[in-house]
This record gives sequence, structure tokens and C-alpha cells, in this order.
Amino acid sequence: MQTQPKASHFINGEYVEDTNGTPIEVIYPATGEVIATVYAATPEIVDKAITAARDAQAGWAAMTGTERGRILRRAADIMRERNHDLSILETYDTGKPYQETSVADATSGADALEYFGGLAASLTGEHIQLGEDWVYTRREPLGVCVGIGAWNYPTQIACWKGAPALACGNSIIFKPSETTPLCALKVAEILVEAGLPAGLYNVVQGMGEVGASLVTDPRVDKVSLTGSVPTGRKVYAAAAEGIKHVTMELGGKSPMIVFEDADIENAISGAILGNFYSSGQICSNGTRVFVHRDIKEAFLKRLAERLENAVIGDPMDPNTSFGPMVSKRQMEIALGYVEKGKAEGARLVYGGATIDREGFYMQPTVFADVTDDMSIAREEIFGPVMSVLDFETEEEVMARANATEFGLAAGVFTKDLSRAHRVAAGFEAGTCYINTYNDAPVEAPFGGMKNSGVGRENSKAAIDHYSQLKTVYVRMGDMEAPF
Ligand code: NAD
Repeated sequence: MQTQPKASHFINGEYVEDTNGTPIEVIYPATGEVIATVYAATPEIVDKAITAARDAQAGWAAMTGTERGRILRRAADIMRERNHDLSILETYDTGKPYQETSVADATSGADALEYFGGLAASLTGEHIQLGEDWVYTRREPLGVCVGIGAWNYPTQIACWKGAPALACGNSIIFKPSETTPLCALKVAEILVEAGLPAGLYNVVQGMGEVGASLVTDPRVDKVSLTGSVPTGRKVYAAAAEGIKHVTMELGGKSPMIVFEDADIENAISGAILGNFYSSGQICSNGTRVFVHRDIKEAFLKRLAERLENAVIGDPMDPNTSFGPMVSKRQMEIALGYVEKGKAEGARLVYGGATIDREGFYMQPTVFADVTDDMSIAREEIFGPVMSVLDFETEEEVMARANATEFGLAAGVFTKDLSRAHRVAAGFEAGTCYINTYNDAPVEAPFGGMKNSGVGRENSKAAIDHYSQLKTVYVRMGDMEAPF
């Protein structure tokens, strides 16, 4: 497959190059080979993208929602037709196994385009009767949106931000993570092929400073970031300077609670999916697995048996179920946490080492006897490192589960119906799961509480974050004035 894109950026409906920018090498995580080079956007490129987005937006907003939605839905169909090639590219970009990318990336992006394409025609304001007078509200776009992505889901993030932005009549400039710059360009290409007028979906490459220059530009009205909490703090502060709308999808250290009555095989499936899918590089992962003391050893024994079934290897092989990490740096961060876990007294029960092959592979890793104060229980690792903690009572575990700065997700495994809902209500987290983990359908709101974020992606809730209401008061009779 040709992994080198035609050019680094996609602006005003076409590929654009400017080799004066800093070169960014794209590395295939399974081998460490350079598979493409793109150039960070220069100030001229950033200006070109913002100008194109500004110029195109009003015409797009003037179209009917039905017309806008038709284009998004056509793009969804094209994405699904090309799922195989897009999945291969996603695997090159991220190293995630094809077994995952073929069902979770372009398909999820297509779902967002289809869903928001379907909603576009029914976005309305409301009528409020006030005696004879009345008020109506107009749901209007925000203008130019900027999307900034993390590297774990490059196609999905490009669509989760682009689809609602476009459905509401905005234009968007998307800056992918510098680690995974390839996939968003394909999303831009497909949207234009589906009939999206030029200038409405632009992609510019670059590191944090390119993101920062987009966020601070006064011609930008909204910023949606998917990234870590430290980056979120900077971007939120910069957006506040210009009183811009924001969506912040940030990190997590989510709890998963397994009660003594849980179906243990299901709970282990949840723990595996919620810690080792995408080699653990998922924001909502349930990395603090609280297991009731009575079943802890049985849980650990069966977990270790099931981990033996992981097929670790070439991510292009459809049988591979566990691939490399995205980069050497990310692998080193995760391995650093393995050392901290050992040093702080946790019991390593599975994995913990690199895998002897080229690329950035480390083993799925499980620590037991983890306590709340350990670094591996407090900090986001963003790698395949599960911490198992024991507990005795519901009250105790709820307090410990919520004792974190994060609030992205949380899960509970139990057969007790009342307890399941009581626990879900008690979680301080934006997305909660009962007897499952990490499902993220486009129909459901997704986002964080506390330091994990602001705003919601997906579902009808996202519309509120990509549009604004204008109130129009209509007086039917004469105006009165005091003099
Ligand atoms: P990161 O914070 O390092 O970078 C995210 C993006 O922000 C990148 O595109 C980066 O170039 C850009 N950026 C960095 N500094 C910037 C600045 N000052 N101004 C503007 N843009 C800037 O995150 P990452 O390492 O790419 O991704 C991993 C993190 O993302 C984890 O913390 C993970 O939990 C989080 N994440 C959250 C979600 C979610 O939906 N909540 C989803 C995926 C990943």
C-alpha cells in the first residue's frame, strides 16, 4: 500500500504541500520503519486553512440540513466501501491490529457521518408563545471549528469532530496528532468526493505549536481537543482568552468494580477489553480493576489463563489480537510504570516485559495487590498495564473508585440489579457501564467529568456543542416606552 500521502495538508478541497515546515516522520509501530514523511504547517499554511474555512462556511450554512446531511451520508457509504484499505492505513498509522481496525475505526467514523448526516435535517430552534407576542430561536452554527486529535483513533477522532461540526453548518480544520498524521487526510478526500464543497473540512499537520496557533487565531470560533489533561489545560486556557467554545476529551484512570456475585468470565472479558484492546491505548480504559477479596485469586488465575490466548504478532495478520504500542516513547512510558509498580510493592502477576521482535511490543501486564497510593493506581499510563486492587464493601470501593482527579468512565460487574444501578449513579464519571465495558456507540453521549473533560461527543448532545441559539423576540402590538 502507498502510505506516503500526496501532500501533507488538505486545504480548500485539495492536497497542499509546503516543505518549509518541520519534517515529521511517520513510523510503522510494528517494525520501526519510516513509512511516510509529512511537513508541519508553516504560518502560511495555517493562514490558508483558516481563510479557506472562513470563506466556505457561510455558503454551507445557507444550505438546507437535508442537503448537508446527504453529503455526510454519502461519505459514510464511501468509507464503508473502502473499509479494508482505510483499516490497513489505520494499522500502518497506529500499529493497532487489523482485527481491530477493520471493525472499530473507519466503521466508527462512518457511523458518525451517517448519524449526524441523518440529524442534520431535523436541527431546529423552537417557538415560545408569550401571550400575543412570541419568541423563536434559531439554531445557528458557531463558524470555524478546530479539531485537535490524539494518536490512538486517528480516523474516528477526525470523524467524531468533523461530522457534528459539518452537520450544524460549520467548517472545520483538523490537526491530527503528529504521531498519526495519515488517516485524517483520507477522511478529507472522501468528504470532498462525496460532494462536500471545498474549504469545509481541512487538515493541517504539525506538533503542539501548530495546534496552539489554530486555537489562538481570532477567526476560530470553537476548539475540540482529544488529548491528555496537561494539554487540555493549555488549550482550554488559550481558548478562554478568546472566549471560544470548547470540547475537551481528556485522559482517565477509570475504575472497574467486580463484585463477588459477578459472572467472572464476563468480568474478565471486560477487564481484558478495557485494558488490552489497542494495546491499552484507550482513554476510557478501566485500568483500576477493583475485585472483591473473596474472588480475587480465582479472578487472577483465570485472567492469566485467558491472557495466554492473546495472539501477539504482525498487526496485518487478521488473527493477531494484540499489537505493538504506537511509538517507542509510549512503550518506554508504560515500561517505566512497570518498574514503578514493582518498586512501590505491587505484585507482578503477568507480563511486564518487552517482546523480542522488531517494533514497539510489550506484553499485556497485570499487577495485583495494588494500593490506592501507588503511581500505577493514580496516573494514566496509556499502555497495557492493568492494576488489580482488592476491596471488601460497596461503600469502601465507591469512595476509592471516585477518589481521583479523573472522571471519564467507570464500570461495574454484578448480578444484583439494585446494586448495579446504585453504583452507576454513584460513579463520578461521564460514561458508566453495567456488565460491559468500553462500548461507544455514536447514539450515546461520550465525555468526561472532573478533569477528564468538558462537553460531550456523539449523540444529540454533541449538537449543543457545535451550534448556538439565537433568540428572536417578536412583538405583535405597539411598543410602549416610558417617555
Ligand atoms: P497529547 O495531549 O500529547 O496531544 C493531543 C493533541 O494535542 C496532539 O495533536 C498534539 O499535537 C496537540 N497539542 C499538544 N500541545 C498543544 C497545545 N499547546 N496547543 C494545541 N494543541 C496541542 O495527547 P496524546 O499523547 O496524543 O494522546 C493521549 C492522550 O489523549 C491520553 O491522555 C488519552 O487519555 C487522551 N485521549 C482522550 C480521549 C477522550 O475521548 N477522552 C480519546 C483518546 C485519547
